[in-house]
Amino acid sequence: MEPNDNKPKKTGRAVMPEQPPLERIKNFFEVPLGYTPEQAMIEAQRCIQCKKPLCVGGCPVNINIPWFVRLVAEGKFVDAARKIKETNGLPAVCGRVCPQEDQCEKVCVVGKKGEAVSIGRLERFAADYEREHGEAQLPEIPKWTGKKAAVVGAGPAGLTVASDLVKKGHKVTVFEALHTAGGVLMYGIPEFRLPKKIVQSEVEFLQRMGVEVRLNSVVGKLETIDELLSNGYGAVFVGSGAGLPNFMNIPGENLSGVYSANEYLTRVNLMKAYQFPEYDTPVIRGRKITVFGGGNTAMDSARTAIRLCPEEVTIVYRRGREELPARTEEIHHGEQEGLKFKFLTAPKKFIGDKDGRLQGVECVKMELSEPDESGRRRPVEVKGSEFVIETDVAIIAIGNGANPLIPQTTPDIKVNKWGNITVDQDTAKTSKKGVFSGGDIVRGGATVILAMGDGRRAANAMHDYMMTGVW
Ligand SMILES: Cc1cc2nc3c(=O)[nH]c(=O)nc-3n(C[C@H](O)[C@H](O)[C@H](O)COP(=O)(O)OP(=O)(O)OC[C@H]3O[C@@H](n4cnc5c(N)ncnc54)[C@H](O)[C@@H]3O)c2cc1C
Ligand code: SF4
Repeated sequence: MEPNDNKPKKTGRAVMPEQPPLERIKNFFEVPLGYTPEQAMIEAQRCIQCKKPLCVGGCPVNINIPWFVRLVAEGKFVDAARKIKETNGLPAVCGRVCPQEDQCEKVCVVGKKGEAVSIGRLERFAADYEREHGEAQLPEIPKWTGKKAAVVGAGPAGLTVASDLVKKGHKVTVFEALHTAGGVLMYGIPEFRLPKKIVQSEVEFLQRMGVEVRLNSVVGKLETIDELLSNGYGAVFVGSGAGLPNFMNIPGENLSGVYSANEYLTRVNLMKAYQFPEYDTPVIRGRKITVFGGGNTAMDSARTAIRLCPEEVTIVYRRGREELPARTEEIHHGEQEGLKFKFLTAPKKFIGDKDGRLQGVECVKMELSEPDESGRRRPVEVKGSEFVIETDVAIIAIGNGANPLIPQTTPDIKVNKWGNITVDQDTAKTSKKGVFSGGDIVRGGATVILAMGDGRRAANAMHDYMMTGVW
């Protein structure tokens, strides 16, 4: 484990200060505390300003990384934030949640002989500095083009479309089903990883640029896509995400104490169940909690659970540690916080008491066989290896499917066999004239930055379509 003495290392990265594990499991405050200006400058000086910077190609939105890092090294923090914002509208979010270890930092040249430059942490630092010093400057908004666009869903995909279109001079209305904007950034990713005030300040910034955000507005119930198109919106972007939880379809899934990760995280994050009864929504806290899955959602659920039930939280995953798809940082933080893992294990049925309350889960051991279509080795049951884990709360975090409402109410939008909207890769055009789409509703559960990249491509194509009428 990295010693957390907050001092920059000569050869390695400047270490970011963090809340100590035993302290942070008693609260929901952010875990990494961010660089000081001095630490950020020292870290930025580790960048060797490559002539052919591989990091830029590793970033899905091609941030000019060496340029912004140099500005940080020179102490020009606000300029650095502005440089990032030329291609990334949500740097304070991406600096916190992007899987940099698989993107820009993975290909950083400095990383070949030691630790890569902490690009994500520097991005976060620059964005936080700009916001905290009240330096976020509204861009110049051109004269109205006379065109209006509608955006369905205020997640990272929809917010990016809105930002890009308003900057091109269009009027934009975002329709959001929930009572707050931000999508998974608000209802999924926990406060201790992404403080909600940061997401809200990004949304407010958009509103100050002139974007109208209509909350509690479920498109497909209030108005359909066809109605939006005939009510004066020249183009519509569908960024409705993948919010439909997958279940395991095993006996006992309806017992009290069994949650989908979506419900659990929404209750705790969005509805603030961790502050019940001050807030209205309760959640079963439990003594022993078991989380099923190995991705970011499973880690977020487990790390949330440990803050509510410090007694025992176990992650059950059917493959091994090597195959865990969650971000390395999340796994590391989860282990520090005392999460237990049962690898190569899968659930078979939930066991309840006479009142229908969860008591345990019968599991079976797995072993890995040949790789499947995804290239990962397929887990198969070890016959006769069943055993029971005692648990009073179970959280199912095995992925989400596409929200079906839009395709159901707009049948001429084509979807694939999983219900994801199919689009042209370059233009984000759907099969329906005037309608564009991107983010998780197209990709299935993916990442914030990929959703934003989709939003950027869609906004460019929507602009062209609204200005020329050519489909
Ligand atoms: C728990 C969790 C942790 C994650 N952690 C990470 C991470 O660390 N890093 C990372 O990069 N990615 C992470 N992801 C994935 C990432 O959050 C998503 O890929 C991203 O949010 C997708 O953005 P989106 O805009 O497509 O959809 P969403 O963020 O899902 O937003 C869609 C929005 O559309 C709204 N909506 C749906 N239907 C309608 C309708 N009919 N009318 C109006 N509004 C509607 C929804 O309420 C929602 O607000 C995580 C996901 C989860 C669930
Ligand atoms: S690859 Fe690494 S060292 Fe090279 S410019 Fe990018 S961040 Fe700097």
